Amino acid sequence: MVSDFLIIGGGIVGMAVAHELLTQRPGCTVLVLEKEAAPAQHQTGRNSGVIHSGIYYPPGSDKARLCRTGRRRLIDFCEQQGIPYELCGKLIVATRPSELPQIDRLLERSRQNGLVGCRRLAAEQIPDYEPHAAGLAALHVPQTGIVDYRLVTQRLMAQVQERGGQVLLSHAVTGIVSMEPSGRRVLTTGGDYEARFLINCAGLHSDRIARMDGLTPDAAIIPFRGEYFALRPEFESLVRHLIYPVPDSAFPFLGVHFTRMVGGGVECGPNAVLAGKREGYRKTEIGGRDVWDILRHPGFRRLARRYWRMGVFEMYRSVSKRAFSRSLQRLIPAVRPAMLIPAPAGVRAQAITPDGRLVDDFLFAEGRQSLHVLNAPSPAATASLAIAETIVRRCPILA
Ligand SMILES: Cc1cc2nc3c(=O)[nH]c(=O)nc-3n(C[C@H](O)[C@H](O)[C@H](O)COP(=O)(O)OP(=O)(O)OC[C@H]3O[C@@H](n4cnc5c(N)ncnc54)[C@H](O)[C@@H]3O)c2cc1C
Repeated sequence: MVSDFLIIGGGIVGMAVAHELLTQRPGCTVLVLEKEAAPAQHQTGRNSGVIHSGIYYPPGSDKARLCRTGRRRLIDFCEQQGIPYELCGKLIVATRPSELPQIDRLLERSRQNGLVGCRRLAAEQIPDYEPHAAGLAALHVPQTGIVDYRLVTQRLMAQVQERGGQVLLSHAVTGIVSMEPSGRRVLTTGGDYEARFLINCAGLHSDRIARMDGLTPDAAIIPFRGEYFALRPEFESLVRHLIYPVPDSAFPFLGVHFTRMVGGGVECGPNAVLAGKREGYRKTEIGGRDVWDILRHPGFRRLARRYWRMGVFEMYRSVSKRAFSRSLQRLIPAVRPAMLIPAPAGVRAQAITPDGRLVDDFLFAEGRQSLHVLNAPSPAATASLAIAETIVRRCPILA
């Protein structure tokens, strides 16, 4: 059988696209191919579980727009499905005088991005929200929340299947053959499948899938591992909700923070170290092809030359629990290394350009009968249902 739409990737973005297609275009046939034996095994199932407010992103960017609408749609979906979530709010804490102007800029940005009720706090007001946090000033963002994205993706998958969509797990895509003008034949470890339109939501492998489809995207995926610790249960009371440092505008994903998880527990992190493998969750995992692809990419070499000091610091903090704990102490001075236990890591798929720039916004590329999601970093989990809406709007109506 030839499907109308074939989606590669059973993370939250792929599953949201399948769900949206079956909602917007009832009667169409949808097939999702996922290489793992369960959905959401990579970025989606290994993230901080934060429902982002959208405060950080440049007004008018896809990130700002899709985070705002995606957040609302995600909350509606959780309500309908009875998925636990909590809008607990977060504090962004300035701990150095040089960070104070950024608090004011973020407050202004909250208004530009349509967030209501964000509040600047003086140092003495911080303990009203987080009794153990300390800083020179803070911003309280009430819209931020927490959820389990693995559970959200499982529910999206169940709905896709209920509406007649097909999800094939343990099917890794190994090749794509164009069948002009009718569509695509997709080769997998579990057989070949044909479709009239292909949508690539393969996360850490999205650039490779795009190349299989004949595209030559400028941007390439560089994997950055995010390592976490968890607070030992007896110290969880140090954190009520979410406590973040002021972001570095050049590297917004840097800066370890505290996150209360919706299922219980408090995670601390993540850092951002170059991963030796696209799905390398442990320091010892090195993939020959992945390392080669990173090293030969001109953008990576430029990035490394420009920011090697930051990279070296991240590597040091990755091997030194004491250094990791010192970063956390900037936000909660009482934290000690003995309070921290290692927690599972995640790997971010970050697209970088040949001139060594990290692609900040979401990035999509169109083929002749295909659409490729080439950069879907944080807050793509929050924004997934809105990203899906955008993608479906760009898909052809198949008669
Ligand atoms: C450490 C970390 C913390 C984060 N924190 C947050 C947060 O708190 N809030 C937030 O909104 N976002 C957060 N993010 C970002 C968010 O997790 C991602 O943006 C989002 O999960 C991307 O979803 P995806 O479906 O594009 O990718 P993925 O979840 O990676 O899914 C891609 C899927 O494609 C499959 N695939 C790949 N290649 C093939 C192939 N050849 N054949 C078949 N299948 C294939 C993979 O197995 C995978 O299941 C975080 C990310 C990380 C890594």
